Amino acid sequence: MKSNNFGMNTLCTHTGGVKDEQFKGAVSPIYTASSYAYENVDVKRYPRYFNTPNQEALAKKVAALEKCEAGLIFGSGMAAVSHSLLTFLKTGDHVVVQKTIYGGAFNFIVEEFPKLGIEFDFTDGFSEQDFVAKMKTNTKVIYVETPSNPLMLITDLEMISRIAKEKGIVSMIDNTFASPINQNPVDFGIDIMIHSATKYMGGHSDICAGAVAASQEHIDRIWNLAKNYGGSLSDYTVWLLERSMKTMVLRVKAQNRNAKKLAKWLDKHPLVDKVYYPGLKHHPDHEIAKRQMRGYTGMLSFELIDSLDPDAFMESLQLIKQSMSLAGVESTILSPVKTSHALLSPEERKRQGIADGLLRFSLGIEDKKDLISDLEQAFEAVAKKQLATI
Ligand SMILES: *Cc1c(COP(=O)(O)O)cnc(C)c1O
Repeated sequence: MKSNNFGMNTLCTHTGGVKDEQFKGAVSPIYTASSYAYENVDVKRYPRYFNTPNQEALAKKVAALEKCEAGLIFGSGMAAVSHSLLTFLKTGDHVVVQKTIYGGAFNFIVEEFPKLGIEFDFTDGFSEQDFVAKMKTNTKVIYVETPSNPLMLITDLEMISRIAKEKGIVSMIDNTFASPINQNPVDFGIDIMIHSATKYMGGHSDICAGAVAASQEHIDRIWNLAKNYGGSLSDYTVWLLERSMKTMVLRVKAQNRNAKKLAKWLDKHPLVDKVYYPGLKHHPDHEIAKRQMRGYTGMLSFELIDSLDPDAFMESLQLIKQSMSLAGVESTILSPVKTSHALLSPEERKRQGIADGLLRFSLGIEDKKDLISDLEQAFEAVAKKQLATI
């Protein structure tokens, strides 16, 4: 059987494990050695060379899911982001970055690139003109993230890859929010796929890891830098991540379903002003999302009506927890104004369309009816309390 014909579920469960030759166990053994023989061996193994048996096996799983030749596993999502960018950028080069990206990636660029003499420009928007307008003769990389956080805006991947190819430069995507289950950017010609495996790949809020998938040639170049910086992942965590990824399709599909249903429910709710979910027909980028995504993710955001206090609302929730991160099997909620976007000025937040009453909702795998009951009782509790104080 040719493994490149396997579907996503089979790839998740079967690709890239370590075979237990000795005892024929059903799952990968963990190779914890930090010291391996060097005489008469094909590969000189060492954890920081990213080539222990468990690291290599998991990299194969990531590569297969992203339909790429090769992959690399990192100690965090930010290690995957920083190594990818620094591999293809040197002093004097320029990178065009999408207007809104993950806060950590934004900080990395604005804090570290000036020290290295790497130039950067953020686009003013998401259209072709917005990206082309920022291109310079020394531009070497174009960097996007779609869907973006927290408004779930979509960047047209076919358009990005066309711009990159015309200029002969490298295109990169932070594909964390979509996960390989909902979106394979390589299908549209994107070169480098980056993941915070802390999110959907891990999926249980108990792992911090990162991953990159690309052509063998690109991964070799990233590896050359990575072995010097040393951001590899412990084999114990590699093993745990491999285990988590076996159920990724099941989890992500359940999260997609919950998000779509809850987006529709919230959209009709009288105490909700706006819902941002690319699976809704009125989302401004629904048509692009439909073209390039198989599912619309388990992430959405919504704005409460002005008179409703977002903190009181979140505190009234019982099942849905307030939490910083996302993509776990449990549903979580946060206020971008208080967390991910707290450092932006109120004017900048307004420019980006992030209202004070905006809440980002990461759907888990719970039963839809229980999530709805929890939201409904919180709406009732807050509305009653506010009416009483008027
Ligand atoms: C969390 C996240 C990252 C960073 O990943 P870490 O594992 O926390 O380093 C990067 N991009 C996106 C979109 C994220 O959500």
